[in-house]
Amino acid sequence: MLERLAKERRARLAAERLLEQKKRELQSANQQLALHARALSEEIVEQRQGLARALSEAASLKGQNSQVLSDLEHATSLARIAQTRLWDALETVRDGFAVFDGNLRLVAANRAWLTFFEGEIALSQGVTYDAVLKIAAQHGLIELDGRDPLDWHHEMTARIRRAQIEPCVVRLAGGRHLNLIDRWGSDGDLVCLTQDITITIRREAELQEARDRAEAANRAKSAFLANMSHEIRTPMNGVVGMADLLCETEMTEDQRLFAETIRSSGEALLTIINDVLDYSRIEAERMQLYPEPFDLERCLHEVMLLLQPAAREKGLRLLVDFDLFLPTRFIADPGRMRQVLTNLIGNAVKFTLRGHVLARVVGIELADETYELHVTVEDTGIGIAPEHVEHIFGQFNQVDSASNRKFEGTGLGLAITRQLIEMMGGSVWVDSVPGEGSCFGFRVPLTPAEPREEVDKPSTPIRLKCAMVVDDLLINRVILERQLETYGLQVTLCRSAAEALKVIEDGGVFDLVLTDHEMPGMTGLDLAQRLREGGMRVPILLLTSDPEAAQAMAGAGGDLTGIMQKPVLRSDLFRTLQDLSCIPPEPEEPVPPPAPEAPPEQGRQMRVLAAEDNRTNQLVFRKMVKEFDIALEFAGNGREAVEIWDGWQPDLIFMDISMPEMDGREATRAIRAAEAGSTRHVPIVALTAHAMAGDAESILAAGIDHYLTKPLKKSAIAERIAAHCPPEARPPLPAGMEV
Ligand code: ADP
Repeated sequence: MLERLAKERRARLAAERLLEQKKRELQSANQQLALHARALSEEIVEQRQGLARALSEAASLKGQNSQVLSDLEHATSLARIAQTRLWDALETVRDGFAVFDGNLRLVAANRAWLTFFEGEIALSQGVTYDAVLKIAAQHGLIELDGRDPLDWHHEMTARIRRAQIEPCVVRLAGGRHLNLIDRWGSDGDLVCLTQDITITIRREAELQEARDRAEAANRAKSAFLANMSHEIRTPMNGVVGMADLLCETEMTEDQRLFAETIRSSGEALLTIINDVLDYSRIEAERMQLYPEPFDLERCLHEVMLLLQPAAREKGLRLLVDFDLFLPTRFIADPGRMRQVLTNLIGNAVKFTLRGHVLARVVGIELADETYELHVTVEDTGIGIAPEHVEHIFGQFNQVDSASNRKFEGTGLGLAITRQLIEMMGGSVWVDSVPGEGSCFGFRVPLTPAEPREEVDKPSTPIRLKCAMVVDDLLINRVILERQLETYGLQVTLCRSAAEALKVIEDGGVFDLVLTDHEMPGMTGLDLAQRLREGGMRVPILLLTSDPEAAQAMAGAGGDLTGIMQKPVLRSDLFRTLQDLSCIPPEPEEPVPPPAPEAPPEQGRQMRVLAAEDNRTNQLVFRKMVKEFDIALEFAGNGREAVEIWDGWQPDLIFMDISMPEMDGREATRAIRAAEAGSTRHVPIVALTAHAMAGDAESILAAGIDHYLTKPLKKSAIAERIAAHCPPEARPPLPAGMEV
């Protein structure tokens, strides 16, 4: 029983434990269920929220979609409008326009493009480029000038295959010309433009024809001018030469006036002919420059001296201010540079009635050892109104006004000047104030003739310390002061002779006095006299534009140490200062007279042959050399010249170029051929009336050593004779004659 009870108790206890466990399990299951239920409900809430969001997004997307649809519609309509406009535009232009796709099939073409094929075939969308070419070639649309249509077709298809397609011109059978411009587009399309250039081509042909005609006329004009130059210069040689000789003879005053008028008119006429020739040469592009080393300052100075008489007549002062730090020797065509300077300074003198003409040269050294020179010519003349400034550089152009009409001229000088300076790589300008004066200038790049070291080489020192400069003109005083200061002198400037005397009275001591001649109040000569009377012994230099007149006025009194030509050349002044540095300040003894000249050397006469057909010119030549100690023979033509040369062996031949039977070139060639192989070489100087460029080369090419242009100048002939006198002959020129 007990056992049963115990068993029951154990069973009950076990049941109670099981119940307990189940209860716990149930509780935990309940808890889990609750958790799960909560999670589920949270999920449901979330999903609901998501759904709500999705629904709202869907609603907004629906709105957006309709916006996009409306935008698309708008864009499509805009694109349609743009396309229509584009095609309207393409239809309006006269040029043909077509587009092919990447497979070279026609996508679209305007009517103008299709018109090129009208009447032959109808081109439709999708037709290939290749087919278009074939149609054009085979239906005779293109003028092939006898070429095989297949060749043309190949060439055109090859052209289109290049990435960069060159434009090409085709001629249609009807005579029209088309310019084909094709280009590959970025998306592989081929865009073709076809321009009708028939009118342009026709105009070009007409222009070319007109140009050919004009050039032929210009050549004819140049040839005419060359001939005219010959025809006019030959008799002018006679007129000027004879007038020149006539002036050397005894004549009454009236006769002298007539003869001098003939000579100066002849020379004026030659100047005009030269101007016309120069201009026509430049126009025909036959002008050439012959650069060589030359002294620009000296050239400028010589031009000034040439113009000095004209300036003096009007009382004008000519001044030169050449930058002291510039070299003076440059490489350029000296003749042409001289021509430019003569023209500008000549004009300044011509158009100035009172005052001065100042030529100023300044420059800067460029990196490549050339100098950019600025040359200006300033005057105090009538000036030029602004509206005429450009006009005056044209050919045959002059200012046409009452103030200007009294001046003579061709109106070519400035046109030639501008062209010459431009040929030298420079430019010309002018500033002018009517009634006050003008300043013409040019800029030109020039290379110095010698390297700097040679220019700066040391020379005799200048020992003078203090100088007094007396001049009424400020510019002159300033220029002289600068020049003297660079040579190390201290300079005192005086505006008048009275001021100079006052300075001396006040105790001024100087080693040198430089005085102008013509000054208001007291002249330079009178000043010199007063200074000498006052006991001054230092050198006194008189600067004058007319040294001869000053010398005549000064007489043999000896107040002056020297007379210098104005404008003073810097190198002359420098040399004078050097000379004055070497002489003792007060010469005790009179300078001994120069030793008598050595008796003329003995020897045979120099033999000179002149070949010249014109009797007058022979006479002129004979008269020109009549004082020379030479044996002269004439030949009437080239053949005679060769014969005389062979038999007489002249030392020098003057050879006219234009002669009947055998001209000068041929005769020279014959002489040179005969000389070939021997050591003989007779100098031959051509006498030519041809002044056209190009003649010089052809003349020299014939074997001529030198040439002189007619009308002949006695000095030029003398120079040639002196240069070619052989050692065994007597000096040909009279003693004291300068060449
Ligand atoms: P020309 O002097 O032979 O008439 P240019 O070509 O040298 O020809 O000059 C053209 C014109 O320019 C002159 O006629 C003159 O009217 C004007 N001219 C030139 N230089 C000057 C100057 N220095 N002052 C005033 N006018 C000038």
